[in-house]
Amino acid sequence: MKKVAIIGAGIAGVASAIRLAHKGYEVEVFEANEYAGGKLSSFEQDGYRFDAGPSLFTLPHLVEELFQLVEKKAPDFFEYERLSTICHYFWEDGTRLNAYAEPPKFAQEVEKVLGISAVKVEQFLKDSAFKYEVLDGLFLQDSLHKLSTWTSKKAIRGYLNLPKLGIFGTMNHANEKYFQHPKLVQLFNRYATYNGSDPYQTPATLNIIPHLEYNVGAFFPKKGMVDITNVLVDLAKSIGVKFYFQHRVKEILTQNQQVKGVRVTSQDREEQELFFDKVVSNMDVTHTYRKLLPQSPHPDKLLNQPKSSSGVIFYWGVKKSFPELGLHNILFSDDYREEFRVMFADKKIFNDPTVYINISSKHKPDDAPEGCENWFVLINAPANEGQDWDKLIQDLRQQVIQKVSRILSCDLASLIETEAILDPRSIELKTSSAQGALYGNSSNNKYAAFLRHANFSKTIKDLYFVGGSVHPGGGIPLALSSAKIMAKEL
Ligand code: FAD
Repeated sequence: MKKVAIIGAGIAGVASAIRLAHKGYEVEVFEANEYAGGKLSSFEQDGYRFDAGPSLFTLPHLVEELFQLVEKKAPDFFEYERLSTICHYFWEDGTRLNAYAEPPKFAQEVEKVLGISAVKVEQFLKDSAFKYEVLDGLFLQDSLHKLSTWTSKKAIRGYLNLPKLGIFGTMNHANEKYFQHPKLVQLFNRYATYNGSDPYQTPATLNIIPHLEYNVGAFFPKKGMVDITNVLVDLAKSIGVKFYFQHRVKEILTQNQQVKGVRVTSQDREEQELFFDKVVSNMDVTHTYRKLLPQSPHPDKLLNQPKSSSGVIFYWGVKKSFPELGLHNILFSDDYREEFRVMFADKKIFNDPTVYINISSKHKPDDAPEGCENWFVLINAPANEGQDWDKLIQDLRQQVIQKVSRILSCDLASLIETEAILDPRSIELKTSSAQGALYGNSSNNKYAAFLRHANFSKTIKDLYFVGGSVHPGGGIPLALSSAKIMAKEL
């Protein structure tokens, strides 16, 4: 039986393990942390449970299909509910809007609150669906680095519809032209942040994302986001995958441009050289080359691309319940354009940032003590370039507490009874993401899709790449897709 080593038990590493074990390989996963999931993990503190990273679950069929692949049933407890309200939006001037999941209901709400025709909003979501359908076939299911992808029927449909896909203008330009209303433009511009990009630079192609939430659905797993990791690790183990936690890979061993295995360190053993037929790296591709393959040629043009945004996350145990908040909440900045300019040009955090609050205890009450809520408060931040983070975070904490207190008419500071903080430095430390970026390279230019690394190495035989830093991109669904594309190629 041929042996494969997987570096990292992030969601893409675990999905890869399942797919390759199913293909008949003997699979071993080496994970530096003592837990699986990388960004998709969780922790508990003072009676509160927090999902550490992702909070929005879309395209659950990409998880389901891993169970179907190996002909096993997902455990009964792995249930996820489709949200009836996707997000609660708040502006400083007192405007509040509920983004209902059903497009007609959402469109009616927009008409009622912002005075924009519901028909126009529904048409926007239909256009989003069309773009998604065309692009999904072209960009998300196959390797972009194979000629066959570019000569397929799906590709030809893409070429024929090119002018409708929004490749040539920015997201903000398209949304302003279509809606004119600044608040609705801001609401739809926000989708650029779903892959860590700037709506004033990223192509309007990313207007495919609202389709996923409104037409396909936004979901929440009954046992929290981390359950996605847990059920997939159990599935992998059930088909023979071996996991080695607290095992960090220090080098990918090669000979004559051919993979030979990995050099691994662990707490309880001497460094070991282990031999494998193939290696799949779920480590960020930049660090895979720079740290694990120091002697090999590096594709510097791809690795040096500007990174996506990172984030500062305040995990707050809040001793009060806020009926006006739901699972996902956004408190918008009054100057969105400036917020992104400060983030991507000045590499700092704007002093009136947009605040995202996720409260899983709204759907899973045991995540917080009775009468309390577990707040995951995310503020988009630049990737780590050695900024004075301690100072930035100190100022940001004040600004966020003041903004939330203002908008929700409360004294938030007095309600926080426990706190943990994640920032670009700790994200990099915990998951090896280059500069702590959440989604690998940014998509701030129209060639971004082509400037992500392929799912295989063109120079080293039997070396493959998966995860949010390579094709097709970051976020749980795309990380899962990367494993699917890799398994097709391997
Ligand atoms: P990672 O999760 O980065 O895992 C990589 C793993 O490899 C880690 O466990 C790491 O320890 C291990 N590793 C690295 N190097 C080595 C080595 N040398 N040896 C051994 N092990 C190694 N996505 C969404 O879809 N929805 C969201 O709402 C969302 N919100 C997010 C919020 C935050 C705060 C963050 C951080 C991310 C968010 N994302 C979201 C993005 C999403 O989490 C990621 O795109 C996805 O989880 C990436 O998975 P991955 O498998 O590529 O890698």
